[in-house]
Formats: sequence, C-alpha cells, structure tokens
Amino acid sequence: MKYFAGIDLGGTFIKCGIADEAGNILIKDKIPTGKERPYTAVAHDMAQLVRALCTRAGVAHELLGAAGIGSPGTADGETGVIAYNNNLGWHNVPIGKAVGQELALPVFVANDANVAALGESFAGAGAAFSSSILITLGTGVGGGIVLDGRLFEGKRSAGSEIGHMVIRAGGVPCTCGRRGCFEAYASATALIRRTRSTMLRHPESAMWQISPTIEAVNGITAFDGMRRGDKTAKRVVRAYIDDLAEGVANLINIFRPDAIILGGGISAEGETLLSPLRKRVRGLVYGDFDYAPTQIVRAVLGNDAGLVGAAHYADLRSR
Ligand SMILES: [Zn+2]
Repeated sequence: MKYFAGIDLGGTFIKCGIADEAGNILIKDKIPTGKERPYTAVAHDMAQLVRALCTRAGVAHELLGAAGIGSPGTADGETGVIAYNNNLGWHNVPIGKAVGQELALPVFVANDANVAALGESFAGAGAAFSSSILITLGTGVGGGIVLDGRLFEGKRSAGSEIGHMVIRAGGVPCTCGRRGCFEAYASATALIRRTRSTMLRHPESAMWQISPTIEAVNGITAFDGMRRGDKTAKRVVRAYIDDLAEGVANLINIFRPDAIILGGGISAEGETLLSPLRKRVRGLVYGDFDYAPTQIVRAVLGNDAGLVGAAHYADLRSR
C-alpha cells in the first residue's frame, strides 16, 4: 500500500491530509498560511506538515509516493508553477519544486476546484460513474471536469473555468470582466444579491422576518422564506434554479457526463434544490434526455474533496 499527501493551499489555511490509494484520509490537520511571507517559507511549512502527519499516522516516509497541492487560481500541472493566485498575490511561484525538494518526493500542483472534482469523482458522489462534473456553488462558481476517470485541465491547466461560461449575453457584470457569466447568476454571492434586491422591492415579504436587516441576508434566506410559504421568496429561488439549470444544461450538452455533482454552500439545500433543478434541466438538454440521462447529485466529501483529490492527483501523475 502506498500513501499520498493531499494539500489544500488556501489564503488563510494550509490543510493537509494523508490518504491511502483508495482515497481514505488517515489523518488531516491545518496550519495558518501566513501568505505575507516568502513562498519558500510557506513551502517549508507545507513539507513540515506532511512529515508531521506521516509520523502521527505511522506512515513511513518510504511509503509516501508523492504529494499533490490544490491551489486557487491557475496552477500549471506540468511544471508545478502557480502562474497566478489572487488570494496569495502570487505570480509564477514554483511551489511544486520548492516543496518537492524539501520532501525529496514528486510534488504536483493543480487548481483547487479541479482536484476537488477529481476527489468527488474518485471517492465521493461520482465514485460509481466514470465521467462527472463538479460544480461548486459558493462565493463563486468553481468546477472541474473528470472524463473517463481523468481530470481534464486544458492547455497549461488553464481550462475548465465553468463559472465563466456566459449564460446571458450582456447580463450582470462578472468579477472576470465579462458580463452574464454562470458565476454571476449561480454563485451564493449572486443568490444573496438577488435576494436582497427582491426584498427591497417587497417590504411585505416573510424574508424580512428571517433576515431583519439586508446585511444579514445569506444563501439560505430565500430557501427559508419559501419553506414558510412566502411567494416572493419562492420566485427568487425559482429564478435562481432557472439560471443554474442553464449552465448545467450547457455542460450536459457538451460533455454528456454520467453525473453532475453539486457542491458548495447552496448544495446543502439537497432535494429542495436538486428536484426542481432536474425537472428544469430535462427540458433544456438537447435531444432526448432519457437516451443518455445524466444524474444530478449532491457532493458528499465536503471540504475533504480537495484533500482526497490532491492526493489522488499525485497518485495518478506519479505513475
Ligand atoms: Zn466571469
């Protein structure tokens, strides 16, 4: 049995897990990133964390096959260089090489949403399927595409930015500079924006009882309002699901995966979200949906998806 280290490099914390070949995490922990420091100091801490966790889990260093790092932004899977990371303010940082030298192991770097998709595909909601696409509905819309068990990253790992597929030309401005991106409609941020603007137009809405101030509105306010029978809240949720369905149907039309896996904060709504989404998507997909039906399911690994995926990425890349 070989073991692999999966590292999730975030702006606040570095998380690390030691996983076996089947994607089971033996042990995990996190340390502050300290992003203002030189990258070499961050690399040193990552290597120390990997070593410490191996010791605690009783995994001999010789049994550790490789390490994988999931990073936000653009990370070149071939060179281990983080080309661009907005959270850390990094440009062209050879983090893979730096950690690899400290650990005397192969270290591979990939986008964090991509490795999360690989994790869900390998050991989570996609385990029964060969092709799946993870869509994370959080601050933004992230995602990753796994085709026949392999992560599709595109040229220099810059592809699969599904959140920046336009679903409405000339629509709402996106953080990327374009208008009408999937992310600008389907992220939690977008749902909160839509909930707030609707509440301001509807002072009678029950959503004001759930969130007495506009600042307190969150991604579940509209869902909670709908559960209380509020018609305005129901319209917000329906509009959100309609937009989400546009993006999901586009992905199904292009890839026809076995499964679309929804993760991130909004996915916690479960069937309240999934059941109407499935109905809506059915009507949008090209051709006969039932000829090759794509399952729409909820992610199951939560924050561990990134660790499992980074470890599995290292396993696949080091073979
Ligand atoms: Zn965009």
